[in-house]
Amino acid sequence: MIKLVRGFKDILPADTALWQYVETTLRELLEDFGFAELRIPILEQTELFARSIGANTDIVEKEMYTFADRKGDSLTLRPEATASVVRAYIQHKLYAKDPVWKLYTIGPMFRRERPQKGRYRQFYQINAEVFGLHDPRADAELILLLMTFMRRLELSGIVLHINSLGCPECRPRFKESLKSFLADRSEQLCSDCLGRRDKNPLRIFDCKVPSCKESMQDAPSILDYLCHACQNHFFTVKEILDRFNIPYEINHSLVRGLDYYTRTTFEALAGALGAQDAVAGGGRYDGLVKALGGPDQPGVGFAVGVDRLTELLAGRAQGLEKRPDIFIAAIGERAQDIAFQWVQDFRLQGVRAEIDFENRSLKSQMRRADKFGASYVLIAGDRELDSKAAVLRNMTTKEQKEIPIQDLIGLVVNTIKTSITGSE
Ligand code: ATP
Ligand code: MG
Repeated sequence: MIKLVRGFKDILPADTALWQYVETTLRELLEDFGFAELRIPILEQTELFARSIGANTDIVEKEMYTFADRKGDSLTLRPEATASVVRAYIQHKLYAKDPVWKLYTIGPMFRRERPQKGRYRQFYQINAEVFGLHDPRADAELILLLMTFMRRLELSGIVLHINSLGCPECRPRFKESLKSFLADRSEQLCSDCLGRRDKNPLRIFDCKVPSCKESMQDAPSILDYLCHACQNHFFTVKEILDRFNIPYEINHSLVRGLDYYTRTTFEALAGALGAQDAVAGGGRYDGLVKALGGPDQPGVGFAVGVDRLTELLAGRAQGLEKRPDIFIAAIGERAQDIAFQWVQDFRLQGVRAEIDFENRSLKSQMRRADKFGASYVLIAGDRELDSKAAVLRNMTTKEQKEIPIQDLIGLVVNTIKTSITGSE
């Protein structure tokens, strides 16, 4: 038997209702915040990621699915979405119409990481990106949006970490001091980090190797090196979060796994997830649009990991399953015939209707209705057809009433729709 590729997974019908719930909740919230959807390909030229994410990152060094296509072009399955969104913003000259854009995108990402709980080789993200705004309110607003989303999902125990990574003005000074801090720590650093020490020492904060993590505990804090402009920017972000009662922890080691970040970075963590506890992360990337050949426009965004969120919400999948509003139990050929017509009529009126084609006994059809969890069952057999009234049974209250066949669709649709609005 041919099986899944390792690290990949299927999302089965028992779970997709939860996935849809997470996606729809965020989609609606994003649209309330003025974001428009952008759809981008999952395949890009390798250079796009190499240039944006950074050569010394785990992603570019060892995780990308890169291959030569039949003509020899180097292509990569996208490991993240921001680079593609920036490419689209530049390529379609969106900035020419208005530099300010709020865009979101939903879809799979690919990273060849070691498969484990919370880490897949194809995983799903919802990304939000804002272009053209330097204002710290743009950063704070994105964090507010993210935390409102967590609240809408009724997730408790989400912790927000924030940091500022400074800008090309102040970061070089910090890098120098980090380099001298690391100068006599060669023994503790993994071989990757030894290589990063000169080229990109900030990366070492993001290394998952325990001895590297430990040696970074006493590292200098970038927050002590911020220039005035970056200090003020970070101050305002924090002030707005305070004003909106969004608790946060300042984490000066939060550099994120990509090189393009400047100033604000943030991450939402869920302790309940164990080792892979980040459910969302983001930050500002003021130099990226220009670095990829666009105008000098700033950007800020975040990515939500849908796989980990649905894992957190797993207990809620059951209540979200879509169940039929009505099951038609039709006994006998005549009734089956009419019922087939009715079931289509119901569906065309927006009622979720089900029927089976096997013409089994009333008892076994009722069992099937129960299994589906139908709210109502409409019973029609020869006797009902002769008396020109079918029986509608409310499966919760067990109440039954006769419905004249002549106005059946309208009456039943009405009953179902009032019971749905009544129970909300
Ligand atoms: P981590 O530190 O957990 O590796 P990351 O910094 O690589 O995360 P980002 O690139 O910022 O993550 O992606 C944002 C979100 O996407 C993460 O917070 C996480 O929820 C999710 N994510 C990232 N990599 C994976 C993966 N391999 N499998 C499942 N979800 C992932
Ligand atoms: Mg990672």
